[in-house]
Amino acid sequence: MEVDRNAPGQQATETHCPYCALQCGMTLVSKAPGHRLEVAQRDFAVNGGNLCRKGWTAAELLDAPDRLVTPLIRRHRDAALVATSWEDAIAFTVEKMAALQRAHGRDAVGVFGGGGLTNETAYMLGKFARTVLRSKHIDYNGRFCMSSAAAAGVRALGIDRGLPFPIADIADAEVILIIGSNPAETMPPLMRVFHAQRARGGRLIVADPRRTLTAEAATLHLQLAPGTDAALANGLLHVAIRDKLIDQDYISHRTVGFEVASHVAAAYWPDRVERLTGVPATRVVEVAHMLGEARSAMVLTGRGPEQQVQGVNNVLGFINLMLALGKVGKPSSGWGCFTGQGNGQGGREHGQKSDQLPGYRSLRSPADRAHVAAAWGLPEAELPGPGPSACEMLDALGEPGGVRGLLVMGANLVVSAPDAGAVEQRLGKLDLLVVADLFLSETAASADVVLPISQWAEHEGTLTNLEGRLLYRRAARPPPAGVRTDLEVLEGLARGLGRGEFVSAAPETVFDELRRVSAGGLADYAGITYDRLRAGEALHWPCPDEGHPGTPRLFATTFPTADGRARMHAVHCTAPAEEPDDEYPLYLTTGRILPHYQSGAQTRRVPSLQRAEPEAFVVIHPQLAQSHGIVAGAEVRLITRRGTATFRARLSTAMRLDTLFVPFHFGGAGRANTLTHAALDPISRIPEFKIAAVRMEADGGAPRTAVLK
Ligand code: SF4
Repeated sequence: MEVDRNAPGQQATETHCPYCALQCGMTLVSKAPGHRLEVAQRDFAVNGGNLCRKGWTAAELLDAPDRLVTPLIRRHRDAALVATSWEDAIAFTVEKMAALQRAHGRDAVGVFGGGGLTNETAYMLGKFARTVLRSKHIDYNGRFCMSSAAAAGVRALGIDRGLPFPIADIADAEVILIIGSNPAETMPPLMRVFHAQRARGGRLIVADPRRTLTAEAATLHLQLAPGTDAALANGLLHVAIRDKLIDQDYISHRTVGFEVASHVAAAYWPDRVERLTGVPATRVVEVAHMLGEARSAMVLTGRGPEQQVQGVNNVLGFINLMLALGKVGKPSSGWGCFTGQGNGQGGREHGQKSDQLPGYRSLRSPADRAHVAAAWGLPEAELPGPGPSACEMLDALGEPGGVRGLLVMGANLVVSAPDAGAVEQRLGKLDLLVVADLFLSETAASADVVLPISQWAEHEGTLTNLEGRLLYRRAARPPPAGVRTDLEVLEGLARGLGRGEFVSAAPETVFDELRRVSAGGLADYAGITYDRLRAGEALHWPCPDEGHPGTPRLFATTFPTADGRARMHAVHCTAPAEEPDDEYPLYLTTGRILPHYQSGAQTRRVPSLQRAEPEAFVVIHPQLAQSHGIVAGAEVRLITRRGTATFRARLSTAMRLDTLFVPFHFGGAGRANTLTHAALDPISRIPEFKIAAVRMEADGGAPRTAVLK
């Protein structure tokens, strides 16, 4: 849609897409006050006016017919959800929460947040848990997607910022290796920088068990076996050392740990790496030389290597490689990761994580605790300690010592959690489940209280995109009658619980408090103000004072570690939690597809997106399908040790012969997470979404649609 800025009565609001971490700029236009909002182009640096189909249709959800506009309550477990007033819903929730805490202690009530919440809500959710509930139980769904890259970044480079350089730098890299990410489907507007890179003579390599759309756009595709990313990283490092491609001066002056990393890599000679990964030895050598001989080179990781029980190790392996090549901190070079959720970056910086305080401070550090407690006006001893991570908290729902009352904000656990059938059962053990949501999601449908909240275009707030850049999202219209903002919900609950002084519902007031609390931390927002963002300044954190221009590029001269050097690590390639065997002979891997986002709670309600991909499907190599008597379009049963789900068969030679792919955006019978494994990485506590052992059976259903490449 074109914006005619002179049209009488027309309102145009510059804002950002509600979905992924690219946070494309868009304009919301209404022809007259009170009219429907439509999406129009906006020339914004990250997306250059481009949007994917999710972005173009995002405004349709604002007036969706099944949008929640009144609180719902279920007074007894076997009763139906019925409409009620806000006063009743808040009073009921407060009474139950207080009773649970009186009977079982403060930790009996917990909070589960989301990576799509604004910085203000994410910050306030963490503060609400620790100052109002005074509970250690808070974590969020970013644990499911960003935690391995975050942990690896902190361990190796001293800080967790997804991209330590602006997106524009990608276009100038001579060589790029993408590991387990498919931006052509997940962030299509981002592909313009890769196309520009190729047009300037750059080479793009994609390592992925599937030949994805991104792999098809690449110079080389390395179709490695699931779970062998660390072997590939070590193999590349092995060749780099053997063929003297490493930067000895950089290693000596800017890193520690090269000896331990190189000692392990010595055992990953190319022929062995070929046996482990399936990537030809000659390709391993070729890619190591491409990266090592380039003036500028970068490795970008995604959820493929990260959502594994060795997710942190996998990322550390690739950081080792880029440190050994002397690339980290150089122009258009280094390591970065593609954050997934809309505020996956900001959401993990300000206290939603079970062990973290705002500004990337740690709940384990006495100094950090004292700083935040003082800012919040509490004795340090009153701050709870670190709690369990997301999956561990969910594991103990309703158990002694576990959570008995849970507030969920910005997550749809019944669809998105690993081993979702087990999570569904555990949610049923709760004495109180409160869900704040836009729609009656699968999780909200099982709640005792459902609180209808405003959408992205109905309240102002900030987000931090995948390159650490702060974005100001304006309100384009007020929320409908009966709907409250996230912050208003938290304020109402805090007041009811007698701790109203800790929570504000005014976004700018909350952001100013966040700035003060984050000051001096790694993610320092102190110098970033609403006024600067409203004026269009491009501000990347850290930004310690209002005269500071922000920090678009990190690591040019030093690393934020005690001695200013990066750390290399011993990285071993270990087995996944579950290997294919006689009973479950195939790998199952899960991921995103273009029309849908996360659990699909939003995009499955947009008619054109739902028409584009209306049901769950499984992608199978044609030979593998034939060996199972499966034709394109048939119904297929997939069975793992966790459960059974059904999918429509799609046949594609883009798949390996031993691997099946299913998208994770659907609930019900096609719920991918019925099948996935909740085994956790020992450091990041991320679940192994990317690998499960699976058996496939024809379900006898009639063929319907077919896609054959
Ligand atoms: S790429 Fe992401 S931010 Fe951009 S329009 Fe699509 S979903 Fe929205």
